[in-house]
Amino acid sequence: MGKDLLKRFVDFIGKDTSGRNESKKIIVIIRIMIISYILYFTANMIVCNVVFENPKVLLFYGSFLLLFIALFAMSYSYKTPVTLWSFCFSTIIWVVAIVHSFGWNIGVQHFLMVLLILYFFSGYKKYVHKIVFAVTICALRITLFYLYQDKVSVWKLSGLEESILQVLNTITIFWCISVISFVFSKDSQELEGKLIEYNSQLQQQANTDTLTGLFNRRKAMDYMNDMVEKMSNDKGFCVCICDIDFFKKVNDNYGHDFGDLVLKKIAEIFKEEMQGKNLAVRWGGEEFLLLFPECNGDEAYVVIEQIRRRIKETAMQKDDLSIHVTMTFGLAEYDFFNGLGSTLKEADEKLYIGKEKGRDTIIF
Ligand code: GH3
Ligand code: MG
Ligand code: MG
Repeated sequence: MGKDLLKRFVDFIGKDTSGRNESKKIIVIIRIMIISYILYFTANMIVCNVVFENPKVLLFYGSFLLLFIALFAMSYSYKTPVTLWSFCFSTIIWVVAIVHSFGWNIGVQHFLMVLLILYFFSGYKKYVHKIVFAVTICALRITLFYLYQDKVSVWKLSGLEESILQVLNTITIFWCISVISFVFSKDSQELEGKLIEYNSQLQQQANTDTLTGLFNRRKAMDYMNDMVEKMSNDKGFCVCICDIDFFKKVNDNYGHDFGDLVLKKIAEIFKEEMQGKNLAVRWGGEEFLLLFPECNGDEAYVVIEQIRRRIKETAMQKDDLSIHVTMTFGLAEYDFFNGLGSTLKEADEKLYIGKEKGRDTIIF
């Protein structure tokens, strides 16, 4: 029951504006502001009734209460800029009237800050309008200060009465600024989160080969250059360039799609076998690069031999078609004297030697 009522209330506040192409957010904030003001006026009337026992004060707050109720109704039938302007204008009148009636010390002039924030966050205005608005509000506040700081107010308040109204004003102003800031910061935080996520997606896409899901050559080069830069002199790494044997025949005999399936299957084997720090990369076409950080050639050889055997033994299947492929591997340890380029060249040359020697082998 309570939940249902709350939902209906939230729906009512959140009802869209009458104008098309208008942000719903700002009108909802204005409505929340108006409701807050209505509650604030009611609280003031209660305080005035108890503390001041002055019917004129009641009448004074009562008329502003009615004004803001009318504004609330207006928000459902007028366009948002009209409601926004009416809200700002009514607030200014009310602030001036209160300062005039109760003096400077109850702090009602800080409500002008609420207007400033609301106006700056509303997307309708050009920056020049916003600056003019800010300057006007600032000038109004300074004028009020000079007019009323020492002036005796219409209704004289005792120290206690002043502090009660001061507290009431402070709470309402903090509440209003918090609501506006919350709604708009929530939006920008969400946007920022989405951008960060989108950015990392883009980065992932730029670094990944779409067919196999392995890192691509670009990412591998960045990774290896980075590794070389940070590497200490006592522990190197190994690279292995490998290539599917007679892959052109696979494509020619069974079609390009089947060729793709073979590439994916081989990538799966690489992912399963290249554990921990080791990395498998699609180097290009039907060539792959295996990277073994902090590893010597003998250690890497053991892993590659396991991979070579698994690939040879794995049936590449689709429907009733099943074939076996082999791969040739060229393994090189990092060349500390001649650098990364030379190491990659060495691995490539060893791969070529492996092809010459009859394929399905590891040359180290
Ligand atoms: P070798 O044993 O000497 O390596 O013989 P090979 O036939 O594998 O060598 P070659 O370089 O002549 O052929 C490589 C083939 O790989 C040619 C190309 O069409 C194929 N290929 C490259 N990228 C892809 C791909 O993404 N998908 C498929 N299906 N085929 C690809
Ligand atoms: Mg090739
Ligand atoms: Mg090949």
